[in-house]
Amino acid sequence: MDNKILNKKICGWKNLSENEKKEIMDFCKDYVNFLNIAKTEREASNEIISMLEKNGYININDKEKIENGDKVYMSNRGKSIYAAKIGSNKITDGINLIGSHIDSPRLDLKPSPLYEDAKLGLFKTHYYGGIKKYQWTTIPLAIHGVVVKANGEKIEINIGENDNDPIFTITDILPHLAGEQYEKKIGKAIEGEDLNLLVGSIPSNDDSVKENIMNLINEKYGINEIDFYSSELEVVPAFKARNLGFDNSMVAGYGQDDRVCAYASVKALLDSNENDKTMVAMFSDKEEIGSVGNTGMCSEMFDYFINELLNKKNENTPGALNKTYCNSIMLSADVGAGVDPNYQTVSEKNNASYIGYGVELCKYTGSRGKSGASDANAEFVAKVRGIFENANVTYQVSELGKVDLGGGGTIAYILADKGMDVIDCGVPIISMHSPYEVSSKYDIYSAYKGYKAFLETKN
Ligand code: MN
Ligand code: MN
Repeated sequence: MDNKILNKKICGWKNLSENEKKEIMDFCKDYVNFLNIAKTEREASNEIISMLEKNGYININDKEKIENGDKVYMSNRGKSIYAAKIGSNKITDGINLIGSHIDSPRLDLKPSPLYEDAKLGLFKTHYYGGIKKYQWTTIPLAIHGVVVKANGEKIEINIGENDNDPIFTITDILPHLAGEQYEKKIGKAIEGEDLNLLVGSIPSNDDSVKENIMNLINEKYGINEIDFYSSELEVVPAFKARNLGFDNSMVAGYGQDDRVCAYASVKALLDSNENDKTMVAMFSDKEEIGSVGNTGMCSEMFDYFINELLNKKNENTPGALNKTYCNSIMLSADVGAGVDPNYQTVSEKNNASYIGYGVELCKYTGSRGKSGASDANAEFVAKVRGIFENANVTYQVSELGKVDLGGGGTIAYILADKGMDVIDCGVPIISMHSPYEVSSKYDIYSAYKGYKAFLETKN
């Protein structure tokens, strides 16, 4: 039988040359560094901008005119980034877009976080995104973010990452006394209001632990308690991303959803060859809570960026934005669910992703009867397959999990609503949304190769 008649799924690590293996390992070494530097959307933005600027990208506000070959970016409030490499074709002929997100599930501090209870000092938190709350207890945690004073002065905070820094943690009941907790359903065993961060224990002369901690914070950062009102402080795992496995084939680390696709796509843009078409990579915020707000994908800030490209390239005529969108193609670069050997029953194996088997294309997301799904047109899936096959990119096409077990969505539908052809395309992950997500280096590199080939597509 013709060995192409059946679709055989083959592990990507098989038949790799030593050179290819080394390329994958080198690429992922830099990726692990990126994960350790960029644990919040603000830090990821800073890092992506610095990568762009090192490669000749210029803030679009500093350019009056844009020409073929120009490289520009726009920072949306330091939390989401749009970058473009201008091609010789008209922008209205369509762009090649890759869109990822750089926010990740975490615990945010509440506006009045600091309090004292049972003679200890604590911070109240409010979880952000879909977390399994029990996973966030009894692990080392760091605090990253900004405090902005009423006069506009911004204080950056990053504590818990250096070996000399203290860390913080959320406590849990000892097993000896957990009888009642064991009886609860796992989703209720740790409640949202139980996610209180332990931050100190020494009382002041007035016997107040809270006062002593606030004094220490004031000495270190020059802020008063009221300044927490205007802060964005995120509690994230303090441990580092690491190579995983005797064979070093995997990466374990926090925030791989979706900084793995963000990293692969920025690298793909930077390494992309000249193209007639304008190539755009976009890194959005707030995906984990529904892409809302002015830094989320639902806002019109991305339209504004494309309008600025059209304006500065002198192409803006009535309807130019719509025309651009209708002629554009996009990969929604977001992670998928890899089969977990411990929990295989949630996957339908014929239509599930295995880590190490290549970048994942997900034709549709959604829940139940595809409710809320962005369902890519077969013609477009074929086009992307063609691009990947021509560029020797290993890919697998899969669903999020078994029908009726749950579901989810990405930013894909938002750009599809504007008229683009869009498909989800990213790295399959195990333990998604946990403090320590697992990915395969082979898939990360496949995503990079796939994104690059997609950006370089001519028509
Ligand atoms: Mn995601
Ligand atoms: Mn997610």
